[in-house]
Amino acid sequence: MRFAYYQRLSERRKRTYRRSDAIEAVALPQGEPFAPRIERLMDALRAERRGEVEAICQQLIDDLCARLQVSPLRVKVSNVRPSGQWGELHGLYTPAQGRARAKIDVWMRTVARRQVVAFRSFLRTLLHELCHHLDYELFGLDETFHTEGFYKRESDLFRRLAGGPAGRRRASCSRRPVDRLPGAEAPAAMDQARATISGTRISSSLSPPCTPIWTWRRSPGRRSRSAKRPRAISV
Ligand SMILES: [Zn+2]
Repeated sequence: MRFAYYQRLSERRKRTYRRSDAIEAVALPQGEPFAPRIERLMDALRAERRGEVEAICQQLIDDLCARLQVSPLRVKVSNVRPSGQWGELHGLYTPAQGRARAKIDVWMRTVARRQVVAFRSFLRTLLHELCHHLDYELFGLDETFHTEGFYKRESDLFRRLAGGPAGRRRASCSRRPVDRLPGAEAPAAMDQARATISGTRISSSLSPPCTPIWTWRRSPGRRSRSAKRPRAISV
C-alpha cells in the first residue's frame, strides 16, 4: 500500500519512494547480544537517569552503525518533548552538515504529565530516526520517505533489539508519534516542530510549503563531495 502523498510526487521522487517501499528489512550482521544493553536502557529510563539513557542509546547506535558500516551518529536525549498545536515530537533526525555528524534527538518525557515515556515507544523512536540515516547511508536513497517499507525496516530492527522478554516488559505507548504519521498529515506542522527544536529558519527552497512529506530533497546539481547529504533536518 502506498500512502496518499505518493500521487503528488514527481516521477523521480516516486522512483525513490518505490525503492524505499521495496526494502523491508535491514541485513544486520551478527554481533554482541543486544539484550543486556536493552535491559540497562530500560532500567535507566525507568529510573529517569537521563545521562545514562543517552550514553546507552549512543552505545546502541554506535554498535548498529559499526555493524552496518555506515557513518556514526550523535545521539542526544532530552527531557520534555517539544510540542505545539501539531502535537508532540518524539524524535528528530538531522543529517550530517559540513563537519557536523548526523544527529538523532529523542525526548524521554511526555508533555502532559512530564512522565517518562514507555520504553518500547522510546526505543522505537530511536530506531525510527536511525532508519532515516540508513536510507541515505546504507540504501543510498536520494530522500528518506515514510513508506510502508520504511516502517517495516523500523519494525524489523525493533524486533531484533527488543524482541525478547526485556522489550515486552512494558506496554507500548498508545499515543502515535507525530513523526510516524504517514506522509501528508502536516508539513507545516513539522516545520513548526523543526523550528521549535532547532531555531532554524527553513528556507522555502528547501521546504516548499505544499510538500506533503517531512523530508527535504537533495538539491539537484549539488552533488559535490561536501554537499552529498541533504542540508536540512528531517524527522
Ligand atoms: Zn520519520
